[in-house]
This record gives sequence, structure tokens and C-alpha cells, in this order.
Amino acid sequence: MTLPDTVAAALRAASDRLAAVSDTARLDAELLLAHALGVTRSDLLLRHMRDPSPAGFAPLVERRLQREPIAYIIGRQEFYGLDLAVSPAVLIPRGDSETLIEAAQGAFPADPPARLLDLGTGSGALLLAAQSLWPAAEAWGIDRSPDALAVAQANAASLGMGAQFRIADWQQAGWTEGLGRFDLILANPPYVEDDAALDADVRDWEPAGALFSGPDGLDDYRILVPQLPGLMTQGGCALVEIGWAQADAVAAIAAGAGLSSQLHRDLGGRPRALCLRLGLGKQDSNGYLPS
Ligand code: GLN
Repeated sequence: MTLPDTVAAALRAASDRLAAVSDTARLDAELLLAHALGVTRSDLLLRHMRDPSPAGFAPLVERRLQREPIAYIIGRQEFYGLDLAVSPAVLIPRGDSETLIEAAQGAFPADPPARLLDLGTGSGALLLAAQSLWPAAEAWGIDRSPDALAVAQANAASLGMGAQFRIADWQQAGWTEGLGRFDLILANPPYVEDDAALDADVRDWEPAGALFSGPDGLDDYRILVPQLPGLMTQGGCALVEIGWAQADAVAAIAAGAGLSSQLHRDLGGRPRALCLRLGLGKQDSNGYLPS
């Protein structure tokens, strides 16, 4: 009789195979095995290394070998300390997007924002993170994808947050009807160039509609940014995520709409978000106020 493989042996074998498709093969293997056992990764490492490896592990490794992201396989992703459900209907929340939440905190040092809006909310990550900072605020999330909104709604419910969601598409006339004005607007719109060289994990698995935005990745900004002044309060701030090389181009679009821009960088020091405010104020000739 052969003894069943232990967790330790199964982790070694899986991380060897996953090295062909992943820079984080060992971590991937641990996360998938922990998921198959229904335990946390730290419990796996502390308590289960000598247990028999569960039968459910092998199919998860096969999925990862097809480049499916870990977050879709296990159905969860952490964002700003929130444990969120994700599905292939939504972009997987990135750590880089936490830059917007940090910037939002800095934008409201005294009076908290009373109304929050997340444009293209996807999993609800940005909206729910902002709501975790300002639980008394009225929070709205919109998305054109009903499947994405269902994920956001489920995340709000499981976190006990009373955010409101609506199907809306900023490319369609009348989508702002009845929304009113907001003190804080968050948006991580699609901004990737159509022909960008993305990892297969992203290009083959994440929703194209949340990623790509024309030849230069700016199509959604061109449509959305000029509509922002109609959605903002005086003193409000619209924080939009940008690709690292897009700050000047998006600031110019904003200036054309009468909005000033302040740049925020991510932890890697790269341009990641612009805080747009009503009025051009003092700024350089690009309409661009670096910080
Ligand atoms: N940051 C994402 C990526 O580079 C893109 C997100 C987006 O287009 N909004 O994969």
C-alpha cells in the first residue's frame, strides 16, 4: 500500500510545476492547498504539513497551470483590509488601487465626505474601503455590468455596509439621472491600451471591459472626466486611477473640463491617481499640479 502524499510533499510537487507559469509558485501552492483544506495559510503551515494532501488540491493546481488567477480560483481577494468575494465578472482588486483610498483620506482631513460614489465599482473594493473609513456617508456604486454589481452587492451585504448600487454606463446619455452630487468620487476605469502586452493571467482571465480603453487607453477618461463636474460638490474631489504614463494626458483632459489635478503616487513611486477638483486654480501650463 502506498501512503497518501503529505501536504508538505504535495506543496513541493505543486510549486515545482507552478514555477512554469507563476513567479509566486510556492505561495500559489500554499494558498490553493489551504483553500482545498478550508484552513488559513498560516494554519496550513503551522498545523497541517504532515496531514494527507486533500484530493481537491490537484484540480486547483491544474486551473492555475492554465493561468487562472488565484483570486478567481479561491473566489476571494483582500483589499484595504477587507475580505472581498471576486468572480471573473470583476477586475481583481490591486494593492496599487489602495493609493486612491490613502489619497481620499488625505483629501478630507477635517469634515468627512457626506456622499460617496464609485464609478465602475466592480467588486465594490474602492467604495467599500471608503465606506469603512466613513461609515456614516451615503455610498453609491455604479457599474454597467449586472454580474459585477451582484458581486459588489454581496460584498456590501457580507460586510454589513449599506451601500446602494445601480446599473449605469457613462457612455450612455442620462446615466447620472437622479444621482445628485458627491463629495468624494472614486473611479478605476478601464485604462489599458488595446494592444498592451499583458500577462496571460490578466489578458485571458480578467474582464476585457474593465481593462481596455482604446488605442491609447484614454477613451474612457475622454468620456467620463468631462461629466465629473456635474457630479461633484464644491470642495469635492474625484480620485481617478491612471496608468503610470497617463498623468499628463488625463490632467490635460481634466483641465479641458475645468478641473485641476493633483498627482498621487503608489508605493512603488509611480503615478497612480489624480485628485480632480472643480476650478483650475493655480497650476502649470499643463493644468497639472504635481504633489
Ligand atoms: N491596473 C490594472 C492592470 O494593470 C488595470 C486596471 C484598469 O484598467 N483599470 O492590470
